[in-house]
Amino acid sequence: MRPPRPALVICCKDYRYIQATQRFVRRQGVRWYDLKATAGGLRALQDAPPLVRRWIFKDVQLVYQLHGVRRIIIVQHQDCAAYGGAQAFDSLQEERQFHQRQFRRARRLLSRALAGVRVEGFFAHGAPGRLAFAALR
Ligand SMILES: [Zn+2]
Repeated sequence: MRPPRPALVICCKDYRYIQATQRFVRRQGVRWYDLKATAGGLRALQDAPPLVRRWIFKDVQLVYQLHGVRRIIIVQHQDCAAYGGAQAFDSLQEERQFHQRQFRRARRLLSRALAGVRVEGFFAHGAPGRLAFAALR
């Protein structure tokens, strides 16, 4: 029997968010997933030096090819230290809009490079223990 196709979850490794992120992903009906958790979620894929960006992308490409990943779920979060924390933004709305733009860049990159991939994005915010996950579009 062929194993199920996993999704790929790309998120930040922040201990305040990573477990809630995985619970949220499972609540979306995702039973199997590979996990790419680095500081800032998308930060390394988009803003790191070229060698790092290439390595992150190769890692994503690997699960696309070997595991048949066709669904990528990106979860960014509020107060992410990799982006300067909440104090780098004037408001939660501005912070969310920033992550919206990060998500759109990533979606463009990933869907151009990996045929047939669906990319979804979410922004986790609120008090730890009572996080909300807003869809990024
Ligand atoms: Zn973070």
